[in-house]
Amino acid sequence: MPQTLSVCIIGGGIGGLSTAIAMQQAGFNVSLYERVGAIKEVGAGISLWPNAVKVLYKLGFKTTLDAIASIGDGGIRASDGRWLAHSHSATIEKMCGAPLVVLHRAELLDMLYKAVDPQVIHLNAECTGFEQTADGVTVRFRDGSTAQADVVIGADGIRSAVRTQMFGTQTPCYSGYTAWRGVAPVKIDAAGFEMFGRGQRFGVASLSQGRTYWFATKNAPAGESDSSAGRKADVLALFKGWADPVERLIQATEEPAILRNDIVDLPPLTQWSMGRVTLIGDAAHAMTPNMGQGACQAIEDALSITTCLQQQSDPVTALQTYQAQRIARTTAIVNRSLLIGQIGQVSNPILVTLRNLLLRITPESATLRQLAPVITYEVPTV
Ligand SMILES: Cc1cc2nc3c(=O)[nH]c(=O)nc-3n(C[C@H](O)[C@H](O)[C@H](O)COP(=O)(O)OP(=O)(O)OC[C@H]3O[C@@H](n4cnc5c(N)ncnc54)[C@H](O)[C@@H]3O)c2cc1C
Repeated sequence: MPQTLSVCIIGGGIGGLSTAIAMQQAGFNVSLYERVGAIKEVGAGISLWPNAVKVLYKLGFKTTLDAIASIGDGGIRASDGRWLAHSHSATIEKMCGAPLVVLHRAELLDMLYKAVDPQVIHLNAECTGFEQTADGVTVRFRDGSTAQADVVIGADGIRSAVRTQMFGTQTPCYSGYTAWRGVAPVKIDAAGFEMFGRGQRFGVASLSQGRTYWFATKNAPAGESDSSAGRKADVLALFKGWADPVERLIQATEEPAILRNDIVDLPPLTQWSMGRVTLIGDAAHAMTPNMGQGACQAIEDALSITTCLQQQSDPVTALQTYQAQRIARTTAIVNRSLLIGQIGQVSNPILVTLRNLLLRITPESATLRQLAPVITYEVPTV
């Protein structure tokens, strides 16, 4: 009888957990190692496009997602509240076979975490490197312990230790803008929208339980600190005078819960797999969040790599096939996300007027046609 394939996943974020679930369901012998002492996510919302929702449905999460995620119409508005473009959830769902949903990150992670056999999760286990031979891989951890597996998957995020050993240090590229995120205990009338200003954007999305996720961006030098007035006062000052509910949402969010990140991505790699070791999620293809596709692509990776390992008995060939299936798609999305961010962040008044005009005259059908290659996805089957 052939031996069950053993797979060691490094990192317990959305990508690592999704992969553990898909691989458990495929009957592989999975172990997951997470650097920190608890599997957790930041206090913010996350949008999942139909391409990822279809994968999560296939993994058995439809009922849970229906309970914890929100769906609704959205679009783009100017900072004074005028609508520039609409998007209808029913149209997206009809086109893609699943809805675009928004949910709290902690609830998404909790859903994934609960679906992984607790015995295979090892916390406080920071991977520091690996050695591979033709027969297997030995992973090393900070505390001096090791683990053996047939295949190792680096799901360890944008500063991946696994990737660094494979391809050297890749420095994240700063996009030129910073972002704040928060969740306010406020219910708003719309499902969600993004507002475009000059070098600034503000986005909102309704979450379950009467909460609203918001994010704000502005062009800024890399590593800029909060002013002495504090983070909340800074965001309020920046978005003063924007149409409701912008100031209301910032006001209602507790200052310590407001997150701030400079927006970065990684220059796309041309190779992810080396022998029995490969990468998924941000470790492989960290992107700016302008298309809301970073986690979605990690979720796609999870099922893709699992089906490749199911279909091919030689793990080295399977990891090459996985790379070939995924790399062009994710590279295109990394590049497109960057471009969309540049358009969203324009600050020249003439370019702002032109952009907003273009948004107003572009029909929803044309926008969806452009998005179709990203958000429609044929879920792989064995
Ligand atoms: C502002 C912002 C908004 C976003 N919005 C969206 C959105 O709406 N939709 C969307 O799809 N995506 C969005 N994204 C992108 C999304 O958050 C990421 O793409 C996604 O979380 C990546 O998941 P991951 O599992 O690959 O990596 P991570 O979430 O980074 O997880 C990596 C895990 O590995 C662990 N780890 C790291 N190093 C080691 C090690 N050496 N050993 C063991 N464990 C290790 C870490 O502790 C962590 O738990 C957004 C990103 C940002 C910054």
